[in-house]
Amino acid sequence: MDRLMVSVSGVRGTVGGTLTPEVACRFGCAFATLLGGAGRTVTLARDSRESGPMIRNAVAAGLMASGVDVVDLGLVTTPGAALMTARIGADGGVIITASHNPRQYNGIKFLQPTGTSLTADAAEKLRCLWADEAFSLVGSERQGRVIVNDETHDAHVDAVCRDLDVDAVAKRRFRVVLDSVNGAGCAVTPLLMERLGVDLLHLNAEPTGAFAHPPEPVAENVTELGESVRAHGAAVGFAQDADADRLAVLDESGTFIGEEYTLALTAAHVLARRKGKVATNMVTSRMIDDVAAATGAEVVRAPTGEANVVQAMLEAGCVFGGEGGGGVIDPQVVLVRDSLVGIARVLEYLAVTGEPLSALVDRIPRYVMLKSKLPCPAGAIGDVIAAVRDRFAGRDDATFNTDDGLRVDLPEGWVSVRASNTEPIMRVTSEAPDKTAATSLAETVREAARGVVGDGE
Ligand code: MG
Repeated sequence: MDRLMVSVSGVRGTVGGTLTPEVACRFGCAFATLLGGAGRTVTLARDSRESGPMIRNAVAAGLMASGVDVVDLGLVTTPGAALMTARIGADGGVIITASHNPRQYNGIKFLQPTGTSLTADAAEKLRCLWADEAFSLVGSERQGRVIVNDETHDAHVDAVCRDLDVDAVAKRRFRVVLDSVNGAGCAVTPLLMERLGVDLLHLNAEPTGAFAHPPEPVAENVTELGESVRAHGAAVGFAQDADADRLAVLDESGTFIGEEYTLALTAAHVLARRKGKVATNMVTSRMIDDVAAATGAEVVRAPTGEANVVQAMLEAGCVFGGEGGGGVIDPQVVLVRDSLVGIARVLEYLAVTGEPLSALVDRIPRYVMLKSKLPCPAGAIGDVIAAVRDRFAGRDDATFNTDDGLRVDLPEGWVSVRASNTEPIMRVTSEAPDKTAATSLAETVREAARGVVGDGE
């Protein structure tokens, strides 16, 4: 189905289809209006997609027509753009990216002055301004200007290295294979590797937007990386998504260890060095609970969505955070997921322990997590949640949490069902110490869901 998705995560659509220059320009006007109009400053960045300059220019036109100055950061990562938004004191930021979606998609992501994506309330206000075309355009004497800024990469690497034992990492001269999937990480990540003394083999290293494989860092997309790690005897392999906020890690045998481990591994290391709480979402592996318990740290759980996790981090004063899909957040760098933070912390963990990555992975209890999706017609999720609750109603050892869809915790594991923010689907996630239990939990939920929405898979 080709439709424009407008959600708390921003706007996403197909180029040549639903994401037109007109849509983009109107969102530029709407965001300017949301921020208070003339006299404001907004950073504007893009990932490597071919449609990036076109969408960027359309958004810029809307901002400038509303009297907003645009700081053009160019082709940079999502965490880099977020960091610069906070650093220059902009009133907000815009990133032209469709993250891990395929090449034909693009999107518009809006940032708060902290660099974090908008709250649900602000996103809804923006959507209404856009839909109502309630814009405040200004005359020629008050048009916004464009200011080009090329400081993002250096500022980002500096920030990542500020609290890092760079010398300990550099001494090891790690051999590393990195797959930047022709995305926004292509330029800045080698700068970090150089600072860390890494012997780097860089795959898909040109930021062309012609992605060499689907740009989501999951097992089936990183087989070339695994082969390369083995062939070159590398200590570790890293895979970024197209806007370089998410990271997957492969061990020294080229084995994909799973996106859930990016947070678990880095948290195991960081929480041993920084005392304090860690925040994550409802569907992140319970490995984070084990890792936190080992260092005496408390885990704070927030509804899914980066802005919710960041909000929880700020409220609870967390020293680290992230989400299970390969996203780690270091509040000392920037309040968004950052693959460069993940890379730096994994290398530092290897350096200070002197152990191979597979041994560090083995220190963490193992679980089986199953993720699947079902079609979810608008408005159906409420009935699905009620049906799932009914299925578990006879279990007095079940606990229910409805902060984000429904999560059911049982002695044998947990299962969650929730509607996607960006697609007309619902996601079912289950986790247990073994596959049989995880499958059984997921099947119970899927059966209940199919009873509501039918079999339209
Ligand atoms: Mg991304």
